[in-house]
Amino acid sequence: MSPRTRTSIKRSREAAGLTTTAADADEPSAKVQKVSAEPELKGVDVTASPRSVKDKIKLKLRTRYTPAYNLRRRRRLASVVRLDWNGMPASAQQGMRNLTGVLCYRSALLQSLLHQPQFCLWLTSYHEPQHCIWAEETPCVACVLRNLAKAYWSGESVDAAYVAVDKAFKANNWQNGMGGQQDPEEQLGWLVQKFSEQLPVAHFAVFESLTHFVLDSSTKCIACGHISSKPGDIEGSLAIDLLPRIKGGDLAAYVQQYLSYNVTDYKCDFCGDKATDKKRSRKIAHSPDFFAVQLKRFDWQGKKDSYPIPFNRRLDLESVRAPNNETKSKYDLSAVVLHSGTAKGGHYISMSRGPDGQWWKFDDRSKLPLTEAAVLASANKKSGGFTPYLLFYQRVR
Ligand SMILES: [Zn+2]
Ligand SMILES: [Zn+2]
Repeated sequence: MSPRTRTSIKRSREAAGLTTTAADADEPSAKVQKVSAEPELKGVDVTASPRSVKDKIKLKLRTRYTPAYNLRRRRRLASVVRLDWNGMPASAQQGMRNLTGVLCYRSALLQSLLHQPQFCLWLTSYHEPQHCIWAEETPCVACVLRNLAKAYWSGESVDAAYVAVDKAFKANNWQNGMGGQQDPEEQLGWLVQKFSEQLPVAHFAVFESLTHFVLDSSTKCIACGHISSKPGDIEGSLAIDLLPRIKGGDLAAYVQQYLSYNVTDYKCDFCGDKATDKKRSRKIAHSPDFFAVQLKRFDWQGKKDSYPIPFNRRLDLESVRAPNNETKSKYDLSAVVLHSGTAKGGHYISMSRGPDGQWWKFDDRSKLPLTEAAVLASANKKSGGFTPYLLFYQRVR
């Protein structure tokens, strides 16, 4: 997710009253409220005009979720969406027609998301039409995706639902990035932002708990040894820099580098030293149930870096789990979005694992079986011209 997107999400979180950081909500004084799987909507007059119903729901849920939005609550919110493939038969999996010819980045992203069972369950079970106010000028993004998920796993044609997704994204002013780059990661960040703007706070809170990390950071001053701590950075997809290179490093090593690094120009809040670099290390205080890793292959000049980063089926984040995080943090690969070509033009495909564990390559409409070994071998850019760009990982239970 780009910093820009993160800022705007932060802003909408502030607007939604979710600004309490994980740590200050953990104060004993913070009142812990019981969370039910279904947001309670009693007392909302559904006969009122759409706009006012939405406002009332928002108000009610805002009151309900502030101020005790703590780590334990976050885990509880994530756990209301179970991990199983019920209602998602392997036989239903299908390619998606590239209806306008320029949407392969979206097909590859959505195909990968549709293979995150908790994403589908969240859409189908926790965003009911009666909790949503669909405005003609701004159709609800979660609703069109729910309809797509339902069509996809029913095994019937997804064409109509996919056209509706395109229409809704356009109506909500989705624009391809600068220079015409059509980027699945940008699209994902945009989706998260739309969810945060359009959904009742309780629904978005469940989504965020499922998909976002909370990272606690501590920064050590080399000059005096003082460690200053900052809790509660919320991050969606991890955007991993491929520089500096790590000799022989795999994805886990790059994630490690992403979480721990040197900071310059940082003033120590104990001795005031600003001249020396400080060591910052971040630990996972909340582990999401599934998340995306972006390998940052495109620089601001639009150049593509195809350097191979090997990855395994298992991504073990136990060593970077914060002491106060009780959730085992081992992950398995569940989908990969790959890119071929240059930053200016190219093609995206998805490799996704199905309900039965079988991997498939989805290339627009076509669907071909793959071995797991072939998926892992795609890390090597020499295999077929496609380079992995987004990797989805699912928490192992
Ligand atoms: Zn909706
Ligand atoms: Zn110091």
